[in-house]
Amino acid sequence: MSLLSQKLIQKSDVSDILDQVLHGNRLTLNDCIRLIRSNNPYSLGIIGNILRDKLYGKVATFVNNIILNYTNVCITYCKFCAFYRAPGDTEGYTLSVDDVVKRVVTARDLFGISQVLMQGGHNPDLKIEYYEEAFRTMKERCPDVAIHGLSASEIDNISKVEKSSTGEVLSRLKEAGLDSLPGAGAEILDDDVKSRISPLKIKSDEWLNIMKQAHEIGIKSSATMMYGTGEDDEQRARHLMKIAELQEKTHGFMSFIPWSLEPNNTKLQADGIIKYSSGGLELLKMIAISRIVFSGLIDHLQSSWLTNGVGMAQLALTYGADDFGGTLIGEEVVSATGARSTELTSDKIITAIKQIGFMAHERNNFYETIRIH
Ligand code: SF4
Repeated sequence: MSLLSQKLIQKSDVSDILDQVLHGNRLTLNDCIRLIRSNNPYSLGIIGNILRDKLYGKVATFVNNIILNYTNVCITYCKFCAFYRAPGDTEGYTLSVDDVVKRVVTARDLFGISQVLMQGGHNPDLKIEYYEEAFRTMKERCPDVAIHGLSASEIDNISKVEKSSTGEVLSRLKEAGLDSLPGAGAEILDDDVKSRISPLKIKSDEWLNIMKQAHEIGIKSSATMMYGTGEDDEQRARHLMKIAELQEKTHGFMSFIPWSLEPNNTKLQADGIIKYSSGGLELLKMIAISRIVFSGLIDHLQSSWLTNGVGMAQLALTYGADDFGGTLIGEEVVSATGARSTELTSDKIITAIKQIGFMAHERNNFYETIRIH
């Protein structure tokens, strides 16, 4: 660490916590709150970058993937969502199993994808056989493409449609070919926040419990946080601690992905509750804090280019993130906010990684390097 960096850290309002982290000590809720309240994101970034560098040196990974938003029909009406359409809406759509499989086959042939990230609305008309048939056919046609699909709240929705348990749904989907669960639907794991922004969605303990069930039967997952919902510092800190606690028990989270709420075209913005997103500096701070809090617990931390843009994702790699995320071809959820273009080719990601002096490693669904660029 340079002398200047050392001085910055010594002067920081959280220097005692940063010192503990460098000695491998686990943080408390109070430490976490203090990090979030720190007025010195740069010193957090120095430590985030040191922790990342110890693990990965100058390597940053990305995955060549598509997002398959199979339906926008949803009965959960989250106030931060611009993507859903109510049942019966003329703009509602649901892809047939044939179309789902065709998109995956085409993307595999055209772009050489190794992962499909499949997420959609809580469609009350889709029975579990829809997902099972889609997964089985995808695995037959594209055995080399991993299925990273269905958030905890989609699993809950299928269990309600089927009048079955979430455990049973997870087992059947695993049997059909599901490889891992995305961490979406967590937002902020605090029921006061959830009641305000997504009152009809599963509560915090249900999200954690579905993740636990998945991990226990060998389905790995990612975890996420959508901040900037009007939550307070303690609610944000508790979110991180809840994920850390579950990870200590199950070791099933492969990665953590913090992103900011994008309020364009959402009810939260229409009601004047959230006027704009949290911005770049807050992203860098949350990246650094995530690396610090999950040090020794969750290996991978994704930079969030989708909601913050490529330039911010490059900076995030220097604040503690090690993974650029995916090419996300076909994304429609964030696109619905009209915020920005939501597709990148692998060439553009490779260039973005190289521009900041890192080596670009293409990974698979399980964060194993499959190609060095
Ligand atoms: S975030 Fe998901 S569950 Fe909520 S309204 Fe949008 S599609 Fe439905």
